[in-house]
Amino acid sequence: MDLLEYQGKQLFGRYGIPVSPGAAVTTVDEAVATAEGLGYPVVVKAQVLVGGRGKAGGVKLAADVDEIRTHASNILGMDIKGHRVDVVWIEKASDIAEEYYASFTLDRAAKQHLGMLSAQGGVEIEQVADENPDAIARIHVNPVDGLSEVDCRAWVEAAQLNPAATEGAVDILLKLYEAYTEGDADLCEINPLILTPDGRVHALDAKVTLDDNAVFRHPDYEQYDAIQLRDEREQAAHDKGLQYVGLDGFVGVIANGAGLAMSTVDIVNQVGGKPANFLDIGGGANADVMAGALEVINNDPNVRSIFINIFGGITKGEEVANGIVQALARVKIDSPIVIRLDGTNADEGRAILAPHLSDRLQLQPTMLDAARSAVELAGGASA
Ligand code: GDP
Ligand code: MN
Repeated sequence: MDLLEYQGKQLFGRYGIPVSPGAAVTTVDEAVATAEGLGYPVVVKAQVLVGGRGKAGGVKLAADVDEIRTHASNILGMDIKGHRVDVVWIEKASDIAEEYYASFTLDRAAKQHLGMLSAQGGVEIEQVADENPDAIARIHVNPVDGLSEVDCRAWVEAAQLNPAATEGAVDILLKLYEAYTEGDADLCEINPLILTPDGRVHALDAKVTLDDNAVFRHPDYEQYDAIQLRDEREQAAHDKGLQYVGLDGFVGVIANGAGLAMSTVDIVNQVGGKPANFLDIGGGANADVMAGALEVINNDPNVRSIFINIFGGITKGEEVANGIVQALARVKIDSPIVIRLDGTNADEGRAILAPHLSDRLQLQPTMLDAARSAVELAGGASA
């Protein structure tokens, strides 16, 4: 899940990374009161889960009470790339000598953490990567060894920042690595990381993505759940505890296990269909979970057929089949359903489904056959 800038800065602050003092507010009066308390100039910053706020007019400097009033009232309620600004962050303005870029993320292919540092900050890193890839200094960090000060310093030197920024950058990057690993983040990005005219290094922005699977280790992360961007379908699935990602096709997909769910999405595409979603119901596949999954998919107006793809492992075929039969008795489904049931006790499971089969509830022997039937029942391949 993604954090708003100010939440990311709060996380950074807990690890000792220097950030500007400020407050998150929702009204113009609160913005003014905060600015008066901080002392001018201040920066008013739209808090939305999209980048490029500066270019969109969502980041403004205010030198006095009139300006803070103007900017806060303009930015509150503003639409930035489809996101309404409900919260603004007011912080003490910084003087900027140079803008850098710094981040840690996971390099899945290398099975290591990846740090990126560039003297060309302030702009999107994708743009730097495209136009001037050599301007990004990279470091791979073995998660077992961690990031040593020696390696961190060599990395900072490779990025050729202003020498005045070296000590501050080394210090912040070591702390950023700690925030990233201990905080169980997938991404910690500072853009810009600034050098001030008086030689201090400082985080002026914060972009943090936390690993949802680590929330159990950080009870305080629960608070971030409410601000996540989800479409209606994703929210309904989330409320039911399902692993669901909305897609824009017309074949609803239910599978047990993330790997199988991904393969199911692939095979639907392969036979000319378009999946409406990714949905992993996990190992259990009992009636409650299956009913919840069918409800979410049935409520998606784009769905024209449903493909249930189950491979029994520890879960036995008859349990899954009973779950499907009970779920179908509870939820009225509008679209035809194709089931592929294989694995442990598949024959027993198929026997349980047999009396319920019809034109609108088919059983197919293989994943490929089932995908083809589902696409056909949906009215054929996509245009
Ligand atoms: P983003 O556009 O969503 O990435 O928002 P940022 O927080 O990165 O702000 C955009 C730009 O506004 C930065 O790159 C800075 O150039 C500028 N900016 C932000 N805060 C300050 C500040 O305190 N002082 C000055 N002078 N400029 C700032
Ligand atoms: Mn930024």
